[in-house]
Amino acid sequence: MAPTLPAALVLLCLPLVAFAKSDNADRPNFVVIFCDDLGYGDLRSFGNPTIKTPHLDRMAEEGQKWTQFYSADPVCTPSRAGLLTGRYPIRNGMTSAKRGVFFPDSALGLPGEEITIAEVLKQRDYATAAVGKWHLGHHPQFLPTAQGFDSYYGIPYSNDMARIKGAPNYRLGTDDPDYYADTNDFDVPLMENERIIEQPADQNTITKRYTERAVEFIEANQNNPFFLYLAHSMPHIPLFVSTDFRGKSQRGLYGDVIEEIDWSVGQVLDTLRRLDLTKNTIVVFSSDNGPWLAFKTHGGSSGPLRAGKGTTFEGGQRVPTIFWGPGRLPAGVVDGLGSTIDLLETFASLSGTSAPTDRKMDGHDLSPALLGKGTSPRNEFFYWTKGELHAVRSGPWKLHVVQREPVNYGREAPMDHPELYHLEKDISEAHEVSATHPEIVADLTRRLEAHRTDTADSLPEQLGARTPNFKYRR
Ligand code: MG
Repeated sequence: MAPTLPAALVLLCLPLVAFAKSDNADRPNFVVIFCDDLGYGDLRSFGNPTIKTPHLDRMAEEGQKWTQFYSADPVCTPSRAGLLTGRYPIRNGMTSAKRGVFFPDSALGLPGEEITIAEVLKQRDYATAAVGKWHLGHHPQFLPTAQGFDSYYGIPYSNDMARIKGAPNYRLGTDDPDYYADTNDFDVPLMENERIIEQPADQNTITKRYTERAVEFIEANQNNPFFLYLAHSMPHIPLFVSTDFRGKSQRGLYGDVIEEIDWSVGQVLDTLRRLDLTKNTIVVFSSDNGPWLAFKTHGGSSGPLRAGKGTTFEGGQRVPTIFWGPGRLPAGVVDGLGSTIDLLETFASLSGTSAPTDRKMDGHDLSPALLGKGTSPRNEFFYWTKGELHAVRSGPWKLHVVQREPVNYGREAPMDHPELYHLEKDISEAHEVSATHPEIVADLTRRLEAHRTDTADSLPEQLGARTPNFKYRR
């Protein structure tokens, strides 16, 4: 039987749709889902026994679980700068002894001359969107739309900033796993491009609304290459969750929040499946730093790793990371080293363009490891925080030369001599072995010195400057 006219039209259109998508085979879509303060031990696929993360479990099963993947820094602002620019944050002035991150009264942001992943992919005509937390400057000239993103929707800095006068101290509630704050106590703005559209942002629905925006962006760009940077505000304190998830997890409110993020990941991946984009899309799931342990039951877990956010122990920077791209990436567990700093170089390589060549870059192209054609080229990683070089990893060895006692981040004992750990035999940095390996200490000390010299020409720090006469709105 001959097809009816509408059916024939559909048949005629099909090859066109297929052509539009396959034409972009050399320009895969990229989605980065970046959590805030999610710990290494917070996902079932990374060993968590009580938080249910079925969508992330499936993502890890179909994709690649990277077990030794590092964020660029153990706190928000520099971590994001490192991811987006492929450079250690010291190079672009994004780590400072004066202030750890940007605040609502900060005057500056990521310098305009820095080149982000979005700008690199623009060379190949990608559509780009940033949804969620930015934290690289909230003045118009520093927002995502000034750094290669076509659009922005989100809370431009941390969701605990601008607590209004007289509001309860959130920290005091965190002994109670279900303590729930009032979203109106945090006068943070929700922005659309350069405009504030809601203040205080209703954070109860923030994960849900970020997710809706992400799905809309993917749907709108299904026929052209796209880069989506989806940076959740959660699970950074204060924890908020929509009513569908509240009170559902065994783990309390923190677990509820992670389970909503897991739902969100499911929405994104299901959208890619529904639109037949799985063959040509690579999704990366990771976290900006480790769990904020000082917030007790409202902070996450670093699993077997030592310490958490704000420290350069593994718990501060080794983050649960999954790469997913069923059409391109073979499934499995990858134990090679990687870092968010490598994403720019990797995406440039996979999309047939190049990373900036007019400045010092720190990323490696992870594509051979991702595509199953080789191992990760990264063999070394430097741990910085607050403008200070703390440690180096080379192969399995890690040498700490500075370890501040962090305020707010959970106690750690101060050091009296450089400490050496073998991370493969001792993932928890529990057994210090410098005395028996002086030649390794000497080698790593030389690497630290070389890196210090190499970063001596970095931009001046940008975090300390404040807006004159700044006043919080309320
Ligand atoms: Mg963070």
